[in-house]
Amino acid sequence: IYADVKKGPAIEVFALTQAFKDDSNPNKVNLSVGAYRTNEGQPWVLPVVRNTEKNIASDENINHEYLPVTGLDTFTSAATQLVLGADSIALKEKRAFGVQTISGTGALRVAAEFLYQQLKRNDVYYSNPTWENHHKIFADTGFTKLHSYRYWDQNKRQLDLKGMLADLDQAVPGSVIILHACAHNPTGSDPTQEQWKEIADLMERKKLFPLFDSAYQGFASGDPDRDAWAVRYFVDRGFELFVCQSFAKNFGLYCERAGNLTIVQKNGATRDAIHSQLTLIIRGSYSNPPAYGARIVSKVLNTPELRQEWMGCIQSMSSRIREMRQALRSKLVELGTPGTWDHIVNQIGMFSYTGLNEQQVRILIDKYHIYLLKTGRINMCGLNTGNIDYVAKAIHAAVTS
Ligand code: PMP
Repeated sequence: IYADVKKGPAIEVFALTQAFKDDSNPNKVNLSVGAYRTNEGQPWVLPVVRNTEKNIASDENINHEYLPVTGLDTFTSAATQLVLGADSIALKEKRAFGVQTISGTGALRVAAEFLYQQLKRNDVYYSNPTWENHHKIFADTGFTKLHSYRYWDQNKRQLDLKGMLADLDQAVPGSVIILHACAHNPTGSDPTQEQWKEIADLMERKKLFPLFDSAYQGFASGDPDRDAWAVRYFVDRGFELFVCQSFAKNFGLYCERAGNLTIVQKNGATRDAIHSQLTLIIRGSYSNPPAYGARIVSKVLNTPELRQEWMGCIQSMSSRIREMRQALRSKLVELGTPGTWDHIVNQIGMFSYTGLNEQQVRILIDKYHIYLLKTGRINMCGLNTGNIDYVAKAIHAAVTS
Protein backbone atom coordinates (compact mmCIF):
# COMPACT_ATOMS: atom_id res chain seq x y z
CA ILE A 1 0.00 0.00 0.00
CA TYR A 2 2.75 2.43 0.90
CA ALA A 3 5.31 1.44 -1.70
CA ASP A 4 4.71 4.44 -3.96
CA VAL A 5 5.05 7.06 -1.24
CA LYS A 6 8.07 9.19 -2.10
CA LYS A 7 10.24 10.73 0.55
CA GLY A 8 9.50 14.47 0.78
CA PRO A 9 12.17 17.16 0.98
CA ALA A 10 13.64 17.96 4.39
CA ILE A 11 12.54 21.18 6.09
CA GLU A 12 15.74 23.22 6.13
CA VAL A 13 15.43 24.77 9.56
CA PHE A 14 14.75 21.43 11.30
CA ALA A 15 17.48 19.66 9.32
CA LEU A 16 19.98 22.30 10.45
CA THR A 17 18.94 21.96 14.07
CA GLN A 18 19.49 18.20 13.82
CA ALA A 19 22.89 18.71 12.20
CA PHE A 20 23.77 21.12 15.02
CA LYS A 21 22.74 18.57 17.66
CA ASP A 22 24.82 15.87 15.97
CA ASP A 23 27.90 18.11 15.73
CA SER A 24 30.40 17.39 18.52
CA ASN A 25 32.54 20.49 17.92
CA PRO A 26 32.71 22.54 21.14
CA ASN A 27 32.59 25.85 19.24
CA LYS A 28 29.36 25.06 17.40
CA VAL A 29 26.73 27.82 17.20
CA ASN A 30 23.11 27.49 16.13
CA LEU A 31 21.90 30.63 14.36
CA SER A 32 19.10 28.90 12.47
CA VAL A 33 16.47 28.12 15.09
CA GLY A 34 13.51 30.48 15.38
CA ALA A 35 13.41 30.80 19.15
CA TYR A 36 14.74 33.11 21.86
CA ARG A 37 17.88 32.16 23.74
CA THR A 38 19.39 33.78 26.83
CA ASN A 39 22.94 35.08 26.94
CA GLU A 40 23.81 31.60 28.27
CA GLY A 41 22.37 30.07 25.12
CA GLN A 42 19.37 28.58 26.94
CA PRO A 43 15.62 28.70 26.28
CA TRP A 44 13.86 31.19 28.57
CA VAL A 45 10.62 30.58 30.42
CA LEU A 46 9.38 34.11 31.17
CA PRO A 47 9.17 34.40 35.00
CA VAL A 48 5.62 35.76 34.72
CA VAL A 49 4.69 32.71 32.66
CA ARG A 50 6.29 30.32 35.17
CA ASN A 51 4.41 31.85 38.11
CA THR A 52 1.14 31.87 36.20
CA GLU A 53 1.64 28.20 35.31
CA LYS A 54 2.09 27.36 38.99
CA ASN A 55 -1.07 29.23 39.93
CA ILE A 56 -3.06 27.52 37.23
CA ALA A 57 -1.71 24.10 38.19
CA SER A 58 -2.81 24.52 41.80
CA ASP A 59 -6.23 25.99 40.97
CA GLU A 60 -8.76 23.30 41.91
CA ASN A 61 -11.45 25.04 39.86
CA ILE A 62 -9.63 24.34 36.62
CA ASN A 63 -10.45 21.12 34.84
CA HIS A 64 -9.68 19.53 31.50
CA GLU A 65 -13.05 19.76 29.81
CA TYR A 66 -13.04 20.65 26.11
CA LEU A 67 -12.87 24.32 25.24
CA PRO A 68 -15.52 25.66 22.88
CA VAL A 69 -14.61 25.12 19.19
CA THR A 70 -13.46 28.74 18.83
CA GLY A 71 -11.54 28.71 22.08
CA LEU A 72 -11.35 30.52 25.38
CA ASP A 73 -13.30 33.79 25.23
CA THR A 74 -11.12 35.62 27.76
CA PHE A 75 -8.09 34.74 25.63
CA THR A 76 -9.53 35.70 22.24
CA SER A 77 -10.86 39.02 23.51
CA ALA A 78 -7.52 39.90 25.16
CA ALA A 79 -5.58 38.85 22.06
CA THR A 80 -7.84 40.84 19.77
CA GLN A 81 -7.52 43.87 22.01
CA LEU A 82 -3.75 43.48 22.19
CA VAL A 83 -3.39 43.76 18.45
CA LEU A 84 -6.11 46.30 17.67
CA GLY A 85 -5.56 48.46 20.77
CA ALA A 86 -7.95 49.14 23.67
CA ASP A 87 -9.25 52.28 21.94
CA SER A 88 -9.79 50.63 18.58
CA ILE A 89 -12.76 52.04 16.72
CA ALA A 90 -13.46 48.57 15.30
CA LEU A 91 -13.77 47.14 18.84
CA LYS A 92 -15.93 50.02 20.03
CA GLU A 93 -18.25 49.49 17.06
CA LYS A 94 -18.30 45.72 17.75
CA ARG A 95 -17.07 44.85 14.29
CA ALA A 96 -13.99 42.89 15.30
CA PHE A 97 -13.61 39.56 17.08
CA GLY A 98 -11.18 36.69 17.43
CA VAL A 99 -11.17 32.91 17.36
CA GLN A 100 -8.50 30.83 19.06
CA THR A 101 -6.19 28.87 16.77
CA ILE A 102 -3.26 26.47 16.93
CA SER A 103 -0.68 29.26 17.26
CA GLY A 104 0.16 31.53 14.30
CA THR A 105 0.40 28.67 11.79
CA GLY A 106 -3.10 27.51 12.70
CA ALA A 107 -4.44 31.06 12.40
CA LEU A 108 -3.01 31.25 8.89
CA ARG A 109 -4.48 27.88 7.96
CA VAL A 110 -7.96 28.67 9.31
CA ALA A 111 -7.79 32.07 7.57
CA ALA A 112 -6.76 30.45 4.30
CA GLU A 113 -9.58 27.88 4.52
CA PHE A 114 -12.15 30.61 5.15
CA LEU A 115 -10.88 32.83 2.33
CA TYR A 116 -10.86 29.92 -0.09
CA GLN A 117 -14.16 28.27 0.87
CA GLN A 118 -16.32 31.21 1.84
CA LEU A 119 -14.92 34.18 -0.09
CA LYS A 120 -13.81 32.12 -3.11
CA ARG A 121 -10.38 33.69 -3.13
CA ASN A 122 -7.74 31.91 -5.17
CA ASP A 123 -4.97 34.52 -5.55
CA VAL A 124 -2.54 35.02 -2.69
CA TYR A 125 0.59 37.17 -2.61
CA TYR A 126 3.47 36.80 -0.16
CA SER A 127 6.73 38.70 -0.02
CA ASN A 128 9.89 37.47 -1.68
CA PRO A 129 11.45 36.29 0.57
CA THR A 130 9.03 35.26 3.28
CA TRP A 131 8.55 32.67 6.01
CA GLU A 132 8.50 29.59 3.78
CA ASN A 133 5.34 28.17 5.33
CA HIS A 134 3.16 30.90 3.77
CA HIS A 135 3.37 29.21 0.40
CA LYS A 136 2.74 25.75 1.80
CA ILE A 137 -0.26 26.71 3.92
CA PHE A 138 -2.10 28.38 1.05
CA ALA A 139 -1.12 25.73 -1.51
CA ASP A 140 -2.25 22.93 0.81
CA THR A 141 -5.56 24.73 1.34
CA GLY A 142 -6.19 24.67 -2.40
CA PHE A 143 -5.12 28.10 -3.63
CA THR A 144 -3.75 27.67 -7.12
CA LYS A 145 -2.63 31.22 -7.87
CA LEU A 146 0.29 31.74 -5.55
CA HIS A 147 2.38 34.82 -6.28
CA SER A 148 5.29 36.54 -4.66
CA TYR A 149 5.84 40.28 -4.59
CA ARG A 150 9.26 41.90 -4.56
CA TYR A 151 10.31 42.92 -1.07
CA TRP A 152 14.06 42.85 -0.63
CA ASP A 153 16.74 44.73 -2.50
CA GLN A 154 19.79 42.50 -2.06
CA ASN A 155 22.23 45.17 -3.26
CA LYS A 156 21.01 47.91 -0.99
CA ARG A 157 20.05 45.43 1.71
CA GLN A 158 16.77 47.18 2.33
CA LEU A 159 13.08 47.08 1.42
CA ASP A 160 12.36 47.36 -2.31
CA LEU A 161 9.19 49.46 -1.97
CA LYS A 162 9.05 50.36 -5.64
CA GLY A 163 9.19 46.71 -6.66
CA MET A 164 6.62 45.76 -4.01
CA LEU A 165 4.14 48.39 -5.18
CA ALA A 166 4.67 47.54 -8.84
CA ASP A 167 3.96 43.86 -8.18
CA LEU A 168 0.90 44.51 -6.03
CA ASP A 169 -0.39 46.84 -8.73
CA GLN A 170 -0.69 43.77 -10.98
CA ALA A 171 -2.86 41.84 -8.51
CA VAL A 172 -6.48 41.17 -9.40
CA PRO A 173 -9.06 42.80 -7.09
CA GLY A 174 -9.77 40.67 -4.03
CA SER A 175 -6.33 39.07 -3.96
CA VAL A 176 -5.14 38.13 -0.49
CA ILE A 177 -1.96 40.00 0.40
CA ILE A 178 0.08 38.58 3.27
CA LEU A 179 1.81 41.38 5.15
CA HIS A 180 4.17 40.91 8.08
CA ALA A 181 2.78 43.13 10.84
CA CYS A 182 6.28 43.78 12.21
CA ALA A 183 9.77 42.27 12.26
CA HIS A 184 9.56 40.80 8.77
CA ASN A 185 10.77 37.20 8.67
CA PRO A 186 13.40 36.64 7.30
CA THR A 187 14.72 40.11 6.42
CA GLY A 188 14.10 42.01 9.67
CA SER A 189 13.23 45.02 7.47
CA ASP A 190 9.83 46.64 7.85
CA PRO A 191 8.25 49.45 5.85
CA THR A 192 8.39 52.88 7.51
CA GLN A 193 5.09 54.53 8.46
CA GLU A 194 5.26 56.60 5.27
CA GLN A 195 5.82 53.45 3.21
CA TRP A 196 2.91 51.68 4.93
CA LYS A 197 0.71 54.59 3.84
CA GLU A 198 1.74 54.08 0.23
CA ILE A 199 1.05 50.35 0.52
CA ALA A 200 -2.39 51.06 2.02
CA ASP A 201 -3.19 53.61 -0.72
CA LEU A 202 -2.46 51.05 -3.41
CA MET A 203 -4.31 48.23 -1.65
CA GLU A 204 -7.36 50.42 -1.18
CA ARG A 205 -7.34 51.54 -4.81
CA LYS A 206 -6.89 47.96 -6.08
CA LYS A 207 -9.32 46.45 -3.55
CA LEU A 208 -6.79 44.00 -2.15
CA PHE A 209 -7.40 42.04 1.05
CA PRO A 210 -4.80 42.51 3.83
CA LEU A 211 -3.90 39.45 5.85
CA PHE A 212 -1.48 40.50 8.58
CA ASP A 213 0.81 37.87 9.98
CA SER A 214 1.67 39.03 13.49
CA ALA A 215 4.18 36.62 15.00
CA TYR A 216 6.36 39.12 16.89
CA GLN A 217 4.14 41.75 18.54
CA GLY A 218 6.03 43.22 21.49
CA PHE A 219 8.95 40.88 20.96
CA ALA A 220 10.23 43.07 18.12
CA SER A 221 10.55 46.48 19.76
CA GLY A 222 9.57 45.75 23.36
CA ASP A 223 6.43 47.85 22.85
CA PRO A 224 3.29 45.98 21.69
CA ASP A 225 1.57 49.20 20.60
CA ARG A 226 4.45 50.22 18.42
CA ASP A 227 4.66 46.77 16.81
CA ALA A 228 0.92 46.89 15.99
CA TRP A 229 1.12 50.28 14.28
CA ALA A 230 0.64 48.99 10.74
CA VAL A 231 -2.35 46.79 11.62
CA ARG A 232 -4.06 49.64 13.49
CA TYR A 233 -3.35 52.06 10.67
CA PHE A 234 -5.09 49.78 8.16
CA VAL A 235 -8.04 49.30 10.54
CA ASP A 236 -8.35 53.07 11.08
CA ARG A 237 -8.47 53.53 7.32
CA GLY A 238 -11.50 51.27 7.14
CA PHE A 239 -10.03 48.07 5.67
CA GLU A 240 -11.71 44.74 6.31
CA LEU A 241 -8.88 42.41 7.20
CA PHE A 242 -7.53 39.41 9.08
CA VAL A 243 -4.73 39.29 11.64
CA CYS A 244 -3.03 35.98 12.45
CA GLN A 245 -1.46 36.19 15.92
CA SER A 246 1.11 33.95 17.49
CA PHE A 247 2.04 33.94 21.18
CA ALA A 248 5.04 31.69 20.60
CA LYS A 249 7.69 34.41 20.69
CA ASN A 250 6.24 37.17 22.84
CA PHE A 251 5.24 34.74 25.63
CA GLY A 252 7.88 32.10 24.93
CA LEU A 253 5.04 29.57 24.55
CA TYR A 254 6.35 27.90 21.40
CA CYS A 255 5.08 24.36 21.98
CA GLU A 256 1.82 25.39 23.62
CA ARG A 257 0.33 26.59 20.34
CA ALA A 258 -1.54 29.67 21.55
CA GLY A 259 -2.81 31.72 18.63
CA ASN A 260 -5.67 33.93 17.56
CA LEU A 261 -7.29 34.89 14.29
CA THR A 262 -8.71 38.40 14.47
CA ILE A 263 -11.40 39.33 11.97
CA VAL A 264 -12.16 42.99 11.28
CA GLN A 265 -15.38 43.76 9.41
CA LYS A 266 -16.95 46.95 8.07
CA ASN A 267 -20.17 46.08 9.82
CA GLY A 268 -20.69 43.85 12.86
CA ALA A 269 -23.86 42.43 11.30
CA THR A 270 -21.71 39.87 9.45
CA ARG A 271 -20.19 38.55 12.69
CA ASP A 272 -22.49 35.62 13.41
CA ALA A 273 -22.27 34.19 9.90
CA ILE A 274 -18.47 34.50 9.81
CA HIS A 275 -18.17 33.04 13.31
CA SER A 276 -20.36 30.07 12.39
CA GLN A 277 -18.28 29.28 9.29
CA LEU A 278 -15.01 29.54 11.22
CA THR A 279 -16.52 27.20 13.80
CA LEU A 280 -17.24 24.64 11.08
CA ILE A 281 -13.73 24.92 9.61
CA ILE A 282 -12.13 24.36 13.03
CA ARG A 283 -14.56 21.58 13.88
CA GLY A 284 -13.57 19.70 10.74
CA SER A 285 -9.86 20.27 11.33
CA TYR A 286 -9.16 19.60 15.00
CA SER A 287 -12.48 20.12 16.82
CA ASN A 288 -11.21 22.53 19.44
CA PRO A 289 -7.94 24.13 20.54
CA PRO A 290 -5.64 23.35 23.47
CA ALA A 291 -6.25 25.32 26.67
CA TYR A 292 -2.88 25.44 28.44
CA GLY A 293 -1.15 28.31 26.61
CA ALA A 294 -4.37 30.28 26.14
CA ARG A 295 -5.07 30.16 29.89
CA ILE A 296 -1.63 31.57 30.62
CA VAL A 297 -1.87 34.37 28.04
CA SER A 298 -5.39 35.21 29.14
CA LYS A 299 -4.43 35.42 32.82
CA VAL A 300 -1.39 37.59 32.12
CA LEU A 301 -3.03 40.01 29.68
CA ASN A 302 -6.16 40.36 31.81
CA THR A 303 -4.34 41.03 35.12
CA PRO A 304 -2.76 44.52 35.18
CA GLU A 305 0.21 43.62 37.43
CA LEU A 306 1.03 40.48 35.44
CA ARG A 307 0.67 42.38 32.18
CA GLN A 308 3.16 44.93 33.50
CA GLU A 309 5.56 42.14 34.40
CA TRP A 310 5.18 40.69 30.90
CA MET A 311 6.04 44.09 29.43
CA GLY A 312 9.30 43.94 31.38
CA CYS A 313 10.04 40.48 29.94
CA ILE A 314 9.50 41.50 26.32
CA GLN A 315 11.64 44.56 26.88
CA SER A 316 14.47 42.46 28.22
CA MET A 317 14.29 40.03 25.26
CA SER A 318 14.16 42.77 22.65
CA SER A 319 16.95 44.78 24.23
CA ARG A 320 19.27 41.76 24.39
CA ILE A 321 18.65 41.26 20.68
CA ARG A 322 19.42 44.92 19.97
CA GLU A 323 22.65 44.66 21.96
CA MET A 324 23.71 41.66 19.88
CA ARG A 325 22.95 43.57 16.69
CA GLN A 326 25.18 46.45 17.83
CA ALA A 327 27.92 44.09 18.94
CA LEU A 328 27.99 42.09 15.71
CA ARG A 329 28.06 45.20 13.56
CA SER A 330 30.83 46.79 15.65
CA LYS A 331 32.97 43.67 15.52
CA LEU A 332 32.65 43.32 11.75
CA VAL A 333 33.50 46.99 11.28
CA GLU A 334 36.45 46.61 13.67
CA LEU A 335 37.72 43.62 11.71
CA GLY A 336 37.38 45.62 8.47
CA THR A 337 35.10 42.98 6.96
CA PRO A 338 34.33 44.08 3.38
CA GLY A 339 30.81 45.43 2.80
CA THR A 340 28.50 47.57 4.89
CA TRP A 341 26.95 46.12 8.02
CA ASP A 342 24.59 48.93 9.03
CA HIS A 343 21.61 46.81 7.98
CA ILE A 344 22.27 44.54 10.96
CA VAL A 345 21.38 47.36 13.37
CA ASN A 346 18.66 48.84 11.16
CA GLN A 347 16.75 45.56 11.06
CA ILE A 348 14.33 44.62 13.81
CA GLY A 349 13.20 41.45 15.56
CA MET A 350 14.77 38.08 15.88
CA PHE A 351 16.21 37.70 12.42
CA SER A 352 18.84 39.42 10.37
CA TYR A 353 19.25 38.94 6.66
CA THR A 354 23.00 39.22 6.65
CA GLY A 355 23.56 39.38 2.90
CA LEU A 356 25.93 36.40 3.13
CA ASN A 357 25.68 34.24 0.03
CA GLU A 358 25.24 30.48 -0.18
CA GLN A 359 28.93 29.81 -0.60
CA GLN A 360 29.79 31.89 2.46
CA VAL A 361 27.07 30.10 4.42
CA ARG A 362 28.61 26.76 3.40
CA ILE A 363 31.98 27.87 4.75
CA LEU A 364 30.42 28.92 8.06
CA ILE A 365 28.69 25.58 8.47
CA ASP A 366 31.44 23.25 7.23
CA LYS A 367 34.51 24.99 8.58
CA TYR A 368 33.26 26.89 11.60
CA HIS A 369 30.27 24.78 12.75
CA ILE A 370 28.03 27.85 12.67
CA TYR A 371 24.58 26.81 11.47
CA LEU A 372 22.41 29.26 9.50
CA LEU A 373 19.92 29.14 6.63
CA LYS A 374 21.34 29.16 3.12
CA THR A 375 19.68 32.52 2.46
CA GLY A 376 22.04 34.04 5.02
CA ARG A 377 19.32 34.54 7.61
CA ILE A 378 20.57 34.39 11.18
CA ASN A 379 18.71 34.33 14.47
CA MET A 380 20.24 37.12 16.54
CA CYS A 381 19.28 35.25 19.73
CA GLY A 382 21.81 32.54 18.87
CA LEU A 383 24.51 35.13 19.56
CA ASN A 384 25.78 35.85 23.04
CA THR A 385 28.75 37.47 24.72
CA GLY A 386 30.48 34.07 24.76
CA ASN A 387 30.34 33.37 21.01
CA ILE A 388 30.07 36.71 19.26
CA ASP A 389 33.83 37.15 18.71
CA TYR A 390 34.05 33.67 17.22
CA VAL A 391 31.06 34.28 14.92
CA ALA A 392 32.30 37.71 13.77
CA LYS A 393 35.75 36.31 12.96
CA ALA A 394 34.21 33.40 11.08
CA ILE A 395 31.99 35.74 9.04
CA HIS A 396 35.06 37.84 8.28
CA ALA A 397 36.94 34.75 7.14
CA ALA A 398 34.02 33.54 5.01
CA VAL A 399 33.60 36.93 3.33
CA THR A 400 37.31 37.36 2.62
CA SER A 401 38.07 33.78 1.56
N1 PMP B 1 4.55 33.75 10.81
C1 PMP B 1 5.85 34.04 10.84
C2 PMP B 1 6.35 35.12 9.97
C3 PMP B 1 6.70 33.33 11.68
O1 PMP B 1 7.99 33.64 11.70
C4 PMP B 1 6.17 32.31 12.50
C5 PMP B 1 7.06 31.54 13.40
N2 PMP B 1 8.24 31.11 12.93
C6 PMP B 1 4.80 32.06 12.42
C7 PMP B 1 4.02 32.79 11.57
C8 PMP B 1 4.04 31.03 13.22
O2 PMP B 1 4.60 30.45 14.25
P1 PMP B 1 3.75 29.57 15.29
O3 PMP B 1 2.86 28.69 14.51
O4 PMP B 1 4.79 28.85 16.03
O5 PMP B 1 2.98 30.54 16.11
